[in-house]
Amino acid sequence: MKNFIESLRLQKDNPKFLVAQFKALSSQIPILYVLLVINALAVAITHIKSAPLWLSLYIPVGLSIVCVFRLCWWEILGKENVTPERALRLMKVTLIGATILTIGFGGWAIALYQYGDASQQGQIAYFLVVTGISCVFCLMHLPLAAAITTVITFTAMVVTFLFSGNPVFVATAVSGLFLVLPFLRVINSYFQNFAHLVRLAEELKQKQAEAEELNLVNSRNALQDQLTGLANRRSFFLSLEKMLQKNPASPPVIGIIDLDGFKPVNDVFGHAAGDLVLKETARRFVSLVGDQGIVSRLGGDEFGIIFPCNMTLRTVSDLGFALCATVRDPYEIPDGSVRVSGSCGIVYPEAGDYIAEDLYEKADFALYQVKSKRTGGVELFSPEHEKILTQRYLIELELQAENFAKELKLEYQPIVELRSGGVVGFEALARWDSARFGRISPDAFIPAAERTAVIGRMTRILFGQALDAVKIMPSHLRLSFNLSARDICDHETSMALLAMIRRSGVDPKRIEFEITETALLSDFDTADQVIGVLRAAGISIALDDFGTGYSSLSHIHRLAFDKLKIDKAFVMNFDRDARCMNITRSVANLCQNLGIASVAEGVESEDVADSLKGLGVRLAQGYYFSRPLPLELAIDYAVRRDANVSQSLSA
Ligand code: C2E
Ligand code: CA
Ligand code: CA
Repeated sequence: MKNFIESLRLQKDNPKFLVAQFKALSSQIPILYVLLVINALAVAITHIKSAPLWLSLYIPVGLSIVCVFRLCWWEILGKENVTPERALRLMKVTLIGATILTIGFGGWAIALYQYGDASQQGQIAYFLVVTGISCVFCLMHLPLAAAITTVITFTAMVVTFLFSGNPVFVATAVSGLFLVLPFLRVINSYFQNFAHLVRLAEELKQKQAEAEELNLVNSRNALQDQLTGLANRRSFFLSLEKMLQKNPASPPVIGIIDLDGFKPVNDVFGHAAGDLVLKETARRFVSLVGDQGIVSRLGGDEFGIIFPCNMTLRTVSDLGFALCATVRDPYEIPDGSVRVSGSCGIVYPEAGDYIAEDLYEKADFALYQVKSKRTGGVELFSPEHEKILTQRYLIELELQAENFAKELKLEYQPIVELRSGGVVGFEALARWDSARFGRISPDAFIPAAERTAVIGRMTRILFGQALDAVKIMPSHLRLSFNLSARDICDHETSMALLAMIRRSGVDPKRIEFEITETALLSDFDTADQVIGVLRAAGISIALDDFGTGYSSLSHIHRLAFDKLKIDKAFVMNFDRDARCMNITRSVANLCQNLGIASVAEGVESEDVADSLKGLGVRLAQGYYFSRPLPLELAIDYAVRRDANVSQSLSA
């Protein structure tokens, strides 16, 4: 009951519901008018002869004209521009209109009642019932109007028939009386369901809007770099692919810029300062490139720019230089100002079939070239680069071939103790004699194996050979084995190597692993853990190529190394460049202070060997002593050299 009374009220405080209610109502009301007009005219026609004309014709025609007029209004104007205010106003008007029309039609029908015979009176009763039912169904979305019309029509019918004296009509009146309540109940329950549906639809709409909003945010996040607001790597590749698809014959020009010296800013001043530098770089790039290209942040301190294909090579390369120059301007950070520089690799492709990765790889290769020169600046991808890349690709393919493992072997370069002149061990160096390409340098195939993730398998194959070699080497000799960055940052490979040593029965003290500093940079924590486990097992660890990379004292301090290997670049230029001699001396002193051994690589002359000895370097290897040799020759060399040493000692 409470519900019903509540549903009779127009919900002014619920604008969305008012609109939904009005829309539903406006689709039903025209039907009501059609039914009213047809029924009224049907009654009028049958009474035209028996009743006065004003009653049988003028009133029904007048009422019908009003109905047709209202029907046209609803059809043409009623559904337009439905605001909550308009819906409320029109529903109030409908309420009044429905009451007036019901009284009009009801009064008219009852007035006609006295003029007809029994069958005509039956038609009047039918008219009242049908009108009542039509009103109930067509006005259900406006329960107050439906209730008013139901009550008026049924009351009119019941009162008229109850006092007619005709027993059939009296019985009809009584049953009609009992119909009012169920009808009101139907109106109520329909309206409650309708209100529930509107609520559900509204909730659904809201959820949909929330989902769409979330989708929008997600897709924006998926394509935008959060820090700089630039397009991200994914967006860069999507744009590139789209351009290539749209215009395959004219590929766009790609530039990749990498900041040099950004890492120290991060390390020294913190990530907040690093973020400021990246944001400012993005701003400078966007203001320089403008609408000439799309600037993206590809990750870290790497930015990518897509230029349209119609740009001249000159314009692109000038822009490349301008971008590098703008990076050199100082950056303001809370602690003062910092400076970085930039290198740029550009691919200016000729017409042809490209995929996005292809173009990126070329620009990246050009960038790598300029970075390896350490001069900064701009490098254009050239036919020379193309040749190297093709070769790289062929090597990568060949690494996947089945007989690759069989073509791998090791050579052994003796390591000599400078003071005694005796051989203390060998460094195992990988050799690949490919049936297709002949001998391939480890400098070419090791990086290729790292790129294609073949390295783990390759290391195990080579290390198996190395362990077999140790077993037949004189027992005082040790073996140094090179591990790649991937190996030392991979628990699985390093644990597999440890298990191989255990299985072979070789004393772990005879094994030394050489690792480079770059290996430590990629994942210091894992490298640290792996080194800890290997050293605990008795294996020694040497830091290879010292002096070429970061040569960070913190690495030496944080990780316990057994040896430092001074890179051959210093040793080989020893007699020509005083700085090389000074660096070698410093490293030798550092090793003495730390109580670890120093090894000089690339010793090509007796003079150099003597100087190294004078500087306190303990061990050395190089062509002066011996080139890397097959195992038997290497063992022969060691045996002969040791024999010579003991001979000269006894002499
Ligand atoms: P590395 O570890 O620095 O090895 C020393 C390189 O110097 C070797 O080059 C060796 O042949 C060369 N060398 C030795 N003495 C002299 C000399 O007096 N003068 C000159 N000019 N060169 C000398 P190689 O064999 O071509 O190896 C190059 C690099 O490939 C190695 O540098 C190492 O980083 C890597 N490599 C070699 N074998 C393996 C391996 O089994 N596993 C891994 N991960 N890397 C390896
Ligand atoms: Ca080495
Ligand atoms: Ca080395």
